[in-house]
Amino acid sequence: MFTSLREWISFLKENNMISEIKKKVSINFEIAGVTKLYDGEKACLFNNVDGFEMPVISNAVYDRESIAVSVGSNKENLVSKFLDSMEVPIKCEMSSNVAPFKQNLLLGDEVDLLKLPIPIHHEKDGGRYITAGLLIVKDISTGKQNVSIHRLQVFNKNEMGILILPRHLWHIFSKYEKEQKELDIAICIGNAPALMLASQAITPYGVDELEIANALLNNNLKLSKCETVNVDVPENTEIVIEGKLIPGMRKEEGPFGEFPRYYGPAGNRPVIKVTAVGYRNDALYHTILPGTKEHLLLGGIAREASMIKTISHTVPSVKGVHLTFGSSCRYHAIVSIKKEHEGEGKNTILAAFSNSHEVKQVIVVDDDIDIFDHDRVEWAVATRFQAGKDMIVVKGSLGSKLDPSSDEGISDKVGMDATLPIKRDNNKFDVMTIPGLDVMKKEDYI
Ligand code: MN
Repeated sequence: MFTSLREWISFLKENNMISEIKKKVSINFEIAGVTKLYDGEKACLFNNVDGFEMPVISNAVYDRESIAVSVGSNKENLVSKFLDSMEVPIKCEMSSNVAPFKQNLLLGDEVDLLKLPIPIHHEKDGGRYITAGLLIVKDISTGKQNVSIHRLQVFNKNEMGILILPRHLWHIFSKYEKEQKELDIAICIGNAPALMLASQAITPYGVDELEIANALLNNNLKLSKCETVNVDVPENTEIVIEGKLIPGMRKEEGPFGEFPRYYGPAGNRPVIKVTAVGYRNDALYHTILPGTKEHLLLGGIAREASMIKTISHTVPSVKGVHLTFGSSCRYHAIVSIKKEHEGEGKNTILAAFSNSHEVKQVIVVDDDIDIFDHDRVEWAVATRFQAGKDMIVVKGSLGSKLDPSSDEGISDKVGMDATLPIKRDNNKFDVMTIPGLDVMKKEDYI
């Protein structure tokens, strides 16, 4: 497993998992374009960014396998390892060293965000956006920190706009805003994939996502204090932007190409005033291109873990959950169960919908179906499902506001139970097999 981005990049290089882009590239759409060309295939390291010294990495993880390897796991066990880390987070210790990101420290008037190679990703984006920053904030009433990733639009050399959805950061910020107090924040760019993944964990308020990352990393994550704000950040971060969320201040942010692969609209959003920027010698800038596998899988895996846990409360025989890439790893779930009681297929659908308001379609299959194999799932629907009795439609419930087919978030839901009935005529559902096929190898026959 890997505790820093640069250790991870060394591994990517050793294993031919990264494309080193030598051609000079522009931050305007060109980094985005090359990243898209390699989406799902390889990481990209841009060593020659026009107008900037700092190299840029994208697609740092790009499929399930690379995410699994980055946390010392494999594709099959990734979700269960993530769940274990969520169950038993480990408190991070403070480092006794001076963190590398303090090697270059810009304070006050020296701060200039425009000097970082922050790209413009999509045609109609409102400007240059930081997309791979871990935003860390400390709740001083408990001492616990919260970590989340937000779209951050650079307005000028020391101001950014931020979209804050009604989740944990919103909870803290609205408390501060009511009291007219500035909220200290730090944005950490250039971290190990384990930290990016942990930041997406679906947890109750008060759980520190860095402690989940530390559990994923077997207690090898150390923190360092910031210079100008009361926040502790991962010591191996490449770049740290320190600043304050200003109460009562709003500026127009957006539009921005979002996870459903449509633009999210512009609007008046909170503002961060930057107080310091620190970066290590030879720092790397990490960007995530919205809509890529890197973007969608990091959130998708965390959501799969959360959903399997919720379903297991009512259907203990649940085997796996897959939030499909076609649905941006959010809207469509495929769930496999080892059915023990008649009716459990429908309970699985209800439990899956109860896990997340974003989910709008659930397909439940038996555990002989590989939920990552779309042809097999379709085969199950084609041969084990009858719409008249096996389908549930819920009209007018809350869905995702970013789903453009919804009515400002009001959305219908459909569940399909494609599991076999327990009491059945086995002659009808006798799946054909070839004796010996499971041990046969092509090489033995040529
Ligand atoms: Mn949180």
